[in-house]
Amino acid sequence: MTSTRKTYIIANWKMNFTPGEASLYLHRLEGRIKPSRNVQVILAPSTVSLQPLSLQINRRQFKLAAQNFYWRDYGAFTGETSVSQLRGFVDYAIIGHSERRYIFNESEEDIANKVAAALRNNLIPILCIGETAMERRDGETAAAIYSQLANGLHEVSKEDISKLIIAYEPVWAISSNKNAHAAKPADIDEAQALVRKHISKVYGKGVGESIPVLYGGSVDHLSAGGYLSIEGIDGLLIGGASLIADSFCAIVEIAKGMKS
Ligand code: PEP
Repeated sequence: MTSTRKTYIIANWKMNFTPGEASLYLHRLEGRIKPSRNVQVILAPSTVSLQPLSLQINRRQFKLAAQNFYWRDYGAFTGETSVSQLRGFVDYAIIGHSERRYIFNESEEDIANKVAAALRNNLIPILCIGETAMERRDGETAAAIYSQLANGLHEVSKEDISKLIIAYEPVWAISSNKNAHAAKPADIDEAQALVRKHISKVYGKGVGESIPVLYGGSVDHLSAGGYLSIEGIDGLLIGGASLIADSFCAIVEIAKGMKS
């Protein structure tokens, strides 16, 4: 983590909390996490909680992210929510999460369309990429990372690339909660270097070096400091531990401590 750059700590609450529970939980976080210029805390609740939470949050303290949306702006798409419907409530959008890729069969084309839709609506895309256990076993980690980046960024221009955040989330490390499956610093260092190499090659060295690259995969307050100390990692995307106030607040404190 380079000290002059902003650190992002993102809470992916997934399909947890009713709007009432999300509001109470946010209230607990509000009392414990003070605004910081160097550490941006982003909360990603369920779609149904975005509107009420957007009225409750202090935007200097927290920003909101959508976990999902449909890429068309409006139309006959029963059951879907467009990014243009969400943009008044959120500043960021998580795109390409492995649960969307592998449970809901989102294609690379869907993901590229979503990145373009987020940018078109002035939201910051948080593009998630990462290899499966099988790809890693078969020595295809670099190929998987390069192809997800090339496909996901297909529509992104040179002007827009610096607006994105990339989250490296190896699929085998997500929700594993087992030390044996934890990603090792060397794996993450290698992956962030691959991301920066690809972006440098396509968009230029400056943005390749400066684009925020986060890590996600079973991070908790015990492991956060180690991951944040990897040079080239600019923050964390946190699932399970973000649902536990003590753990999440401790992670934010660690990130702030490393910036002071
Ligand atoms: C995630 O879903 O993005 C994630 C990192 O989850 P967890 O922290 O639970 O592994």
